[in-house]
Amino acid sequence: MRTIIEPFRIKSVEPIRMTNRQERTSFLEKAHYNLFALDSENVIIDLLTDSGTSSMSANQWASMMRGDESYAGSPSFDRFHKAVYKLMPFTNIIPTHQGRAAEKILFSIIGKPGKYILNNTHFDTTRANIEFTGAEAIDLVIAEGKIPNLVHPFKGNMDIERLEAFIKEKGAENIPLVMLTITNNSGGGQPVSMENIKQTKYICMKYDIPLFMDACRFAENAYFIQLREPGYENVAIIDIVQEMFSYADGCTMSAKKDALVNMGGWLAMNNPEWAEAARNLLILTEGFPTYGGLAGRDLEAIATGLEEVVDQDYLHYRISSTQYLADHLTAAGIPIVRPAGGHAVYIDARSMLPHIDPLEYPGQALAVELYLNAGIRACEIGTVMFGLQMDGSEKAAPMDLVRLAIPRRVYTQSHIDYVIESLLEINQNKESLKGMKIVWQPKQLRHFSARFLPMNCECQQKENFIKAFQQEEQEETV
Ligand SMILES: *Cc1c(COP(=O)(O)O)cnc(C)c1O
Repeated sequence: MRTIIEPFRIKSVEPIRMTNRQERTSFLEKAHYNLFALDSENVIIDLLTDSGTSSMSANQWASMMRGDESYAGSPSFDRFHKAVYKLMPFTNIIPTHQGRAAEKILFSIIGKPGKYILNNTHFDTTRANIEFTGAEAIDLVIAEGKIPNLVHPFKGNMDIERLEAFIKEKGAENIPLVMLTITNNSGGGQPVSMENIKQTKYICMKYDIPLFMDACRFAENAYFIQLREPGYENVAIIDIVQEMFSYADGCTMSAKKDALVNMGGWLAMNNPEWAEAARNLLILTEGFPTYGGLAGRDLEAIATGLEEVVDQDYLHYRISSTQYLADHLTAAGIPIVRPAGGHAVYIDARSMLPHIDPLEYPGQALAVELYLNAGIRACEIGTVMFGLQMDGSEKAAPMDLVRLAIPRRVYTQSHIDYVIESLLEINQNKESLKGMKIVWQPKQLRHFSARFLPMNCECQQKENFIKAFQQEEQEETV
């Protein structure tokens, strides 16, 4: 059969509240055209993120019932530990409440001014946690990884030559750690090949530097290796995963991605001194080492999720549905980052809307139109997110993308068809889309709270907006 179906039946449903364009227009105005400010109940299809939005299986819910909430030595920790160890056999596995908590602890131990952490591409929380210690976060992804429409099977690969050159230049003693982010989220969810993992490990061994994985989407990465890397066609996912981690000395993990749960994470490593320091910090901020910021039931859900995520049929469906969306958009001439990543499709809004200047936020304009048109929420990853400079000035980001992140096991093919239809409709009238302007913004991380107005906005509406805003400001200062 060529038709790929969701490899699950639906036992429990969550109703979607349908809205019309008129309602959405008013919701958007109230949210000041910032999609983060929408009530999620007013979103029909939510593609804002794949993080923590997975649907849990009946088995995971059943596992939660046997969660043991003992403060110390809970059997739920044993099950969690066994499940993680089976895939990632590190001698120390330390649960945390999410990925960034693992990062915070790891970099508090090894980061300080004068140190460098090298990665294919740092995820934003990883970079922020490194920079917070005074260390520098250096991205060394291959050149192909930065060209949106260039097709390459492993665009997340580390640039091995630049890696070695950097180590030689700065000295191995100043590089406590090299990391590989699998898949490379900030680079479009692109995978890293087994060959590249091995080469990275080889360089690390040569200079005696530990290699850590940012393991959030390890199962999706393993599936891409099976799909695209010669020699792995007939290797089972679990064997690929075990091989991937056999080259690593530790990892950070957000269970909100490939552990198929809504909250959780861990830090794992072989170095016993680092692990001891990590457990000491863990007790300060997360909890005792056998629960680390999680309830016993959360540990159970992770343990079961890890068994399910390495299932061949699940991964086939997962990657195929992302691919299905990407193929339809490409066929309609909508420019996207190619090839499609594991967890998301990224639309190149700057190329799609060349009549909108980057400083009038083509990504935001497209994301807003997608909500107005069909109640779909996506995420701008471009000048709104990255354009604000330290000195308050503004610069176009390297790309203006709109990310359609696909939650795991949540939407069916007909939901994806609905997304495709909406984007095709918008594409046909794309010349009518207007840019946006920012009328208020905070000093940093503005994408979460900035307020926008469309460039074609009626004057009356503008006045109302400014009045309402001034009133709110007054109320806040009171
Ligand atoms: C989500 C993510 C993180 C951070 O994890 P949280 O659970 O959100 O704190 C780190 N690295 C990558 C690659 C991620 O995708």
